[in-house]
Amino acid sequence: MNRIIYLNGKFCCETDAKISIFDRSFLFSDSVYEVTTVLDGKMIDFDNHMKRLDRSMSELKFSKMLDHELIKKFHKDLIAKNNLKEGIIYLHVSRGVADRSFNFPPKETNLTVAAFTQEKNLIENKESKNGISIMTLEDKRWKRCDIKTTQLLYPSFAKAEAYEKGFDDAWMLRDGYVSEGTSNNAWIIKSGKILTRQADDLILNGITRQSVINCAKILGYNISYKGFTLTDAISADEAFITSATTFVTPVVNINGKKISTGKPGEFTGKLRKEYIKNSLKTAI
Ligand code: PMP
Repeated sequence: MNRIIYLNGKFCCETDAKISIFDRSFLFSDSVYEVTTVLDGKMIDFDNHMKRLDRSMSELKFSKMLDHELIKKFHKDLIAKNNLKEGIIYLHVSRGVADRSFNFPPKETNLTVAAFTQEKNLIENKESKNGISIMTLEDKRWKRCDIKTTQLLYPSFAKAEAYEKGFDDAWMLRDGYVSEGTSNNAWIIKSGKILTRQADDLILNGITRQSVINCAKILGYNISYKGFTLTDAISADEAFITSATTFVTPVVNINGKKISTGKPGEFTGKLRKEYIKNSLKTAI
């Protein structure tokens, strides 16, 4: 691969990009990120990603903010320069370069802003067709999971453990309730009602989650913003995950136990279709 990437106002070949070892992101994971879906060469839900980026940056008390129009411009340039049709744009913003200290650096420190593209088959893939298997493990993350920081070691550990044990992904449990997936929001459908946990400090309020809530309303489904337990999930009629890269992907098996018939659920399929249709309609 030889992509053109964006770093601090300039475009360059991915192999030429240089970031200081004193970058706060490298030393403290002091950085936030966004992942925006690209379909048909256009971005999905860009404005909502920018709102969440602002929120993440202000929750971490970053002293500077970024202009959304400027971000939009370099995202579009990256799509064009890399001829990206389907995939994602990853955006990374760190508090910048400073002498190593646990205290925050001076307010005038410039942010480090980097972005790159990644091609991926998002609409047609075996996971959305056949469904995925999930294992569960304890949620040991810090209690500000609502901020999209690059502190991703625990979710990465969880995903690797799931792969090692032959599962596709993991859902994390806190106090007996499913909080979310390693990099996605968790949902079930039970007795005609869709359940997704309330957006509090213990989950990331997915941009896809918010769009899928709208799709569910369009389809006239009943939604409840409530946590659910592992027992609820295993006895559910359907289960699925949502994220910018998985859209709506069925979960057919949890900890080796089939969800209903063990096949992707009907409503899950309808929600995925509606999500893709709406996304393509509103893409920029
Ligand atoms: N929860 C977590 C922990 C995530 O990492 C992600 C994706 N980054 C999501 C939920 C889904 O968010 P989105 O729909 O914005 O991709």
